[in-house]
Amino acid sequence: MTISEAEPKLTTPTISQERVLLSTPDVGPLEEEYLLGAFRSGWIAPTGPDLRAFEDELAAKVGVRHAVGLASGTAALHLGLLGLGVQPGDRVVTSTMTFAATANAITYSGAIPVFVDCCSDGNLDPLILHQVLKESSRSGTLPTAIVPVDLLGRPADYGRILPIAAEFDVPVLIDAAESLGSMHEGVPVGSLGRCAAVSFNGNKIMTTSGGGALLTDDSRLAEYAAYLSSQAREPVAHYEHREIGFNYRLSNLLAAVGRAQLTRLESMIERRRQNRTRYADRLASHDGIAVFGAENTHWDNAWLTAILVDESLTGFTASRLGQWLASRGIETRPLWKPMHLQPVFRDAPMVGGQVAEDLFATGLTLPSGSTLSDAQLDRVIEAVDELLCGGPHL
Ligand SMILES: *Cc1c(COP(=O)(O)O)cnc(C)c1O
Repeated sequence: MTISEAEPKLTTPTISQERVLLSTPDVGPLEEEYLLGAFRSGWIAPTGPDLRAFEDELAAKVGVRHAVGLASGTAALHLGLLGLGVQPGDRVVTSTMTFAATANAITYSGAIPVFVDCCSDGNLDPLILHQVLKESSRSGTLPTAIVPVDLLGRPADYGRILPIAAEFDVPVLIDAAESLGSMHEGVPVGSLGRCAAVSFNGNKIMTTSGGGALLTDDSRLAEYAAYLSSQAREPVAHYEHREIGFNYRLSNLLAAVGRAQLTRLESMIERRRQNRTRYADRLASHDGIAVFGAENTHWDNAWLTAILVDESLTGFTASRLGQWLASRGIETRPLWKPMHLQPVFRDAPMVGGQVAEDLFATGLTLPSGSTLSDAQLDRVIEAVDELLCGGPHL
């Protein structure tokens, strides 16, 4: 008996055994070359020329004067808030429909997050924001900052949010962790507001393995964030400190990976937009399934494609569909569980919440990475078809 005969025979091709994942890092020979180049240059510990070049290239790409490379998007949010003068006991308004990092960063600064509901597009509701600012202005408890979030990469309604914030003179820090490359009326979202935080985590539109950046036109804010990110060290030889700092700087090696990714950002976005179009085209005829954000009026990076499931038409819930897809080796996720439903934030103030709760109950995020093949996308669509056709009664 030969060895190959002794091995168990696969009855199905290997491709159908592969798991289809939600959003995986899209890296290859170019990233390897940049990383190795930085390593061989000797700039390991921890800053260096690739970090400075990455910051300049990133700032140019988004159209801001400064980008400060940091260890994570969460660190960028934290330093952005401190730069806007957020103090312990202050209030910071944000959308309940977000990842915990937004609310965690607010909490690190000692402030209290004030959660507001989202609109049906999943982004901060400007009407509720206006109401909260009017009431808090009257009672003398105006928030120190507003943090809108661009859910799944889609820009929030800045055409309304920014004028409302200006009316009450409250600065806006954009959580653009999911929306690098997205445009609002032709302007990159990272350049709106007083500053914006982006993330280079492994599942985001581009990655440095882990990392983030604070983007701003404000030189004072950028300098302060850079200073706080390196233990608030005064520029003297003996390490003088007047403030509590953090160890939040992005490493030179990871910045080199980011430089390679930046050169490919447009093509990675293009692929994600194609994914969403393919899902929208192929799922359009399915009663009770709508591609979330397909009616988008702004140009976005289509970071993740989600669908909304109307159980009264499909006969199954989003969570049932998620389980079905998992049984077919396909990874999905619900939309973010709203912050006001999270045990850790249960005591935080909240205005509204039903829209976010409905999205959480009906939304499902589908595999959306820029490394997905057409065959993998088709596998997802066919698996959705199968459940809709009532084939399986599990
Ligand atoms: C990913 C993400 C963050 C945090 O970014 P990290 O780099 O993982 O710290 C913050 N806010 C939102 C909305 C995110 O999706």
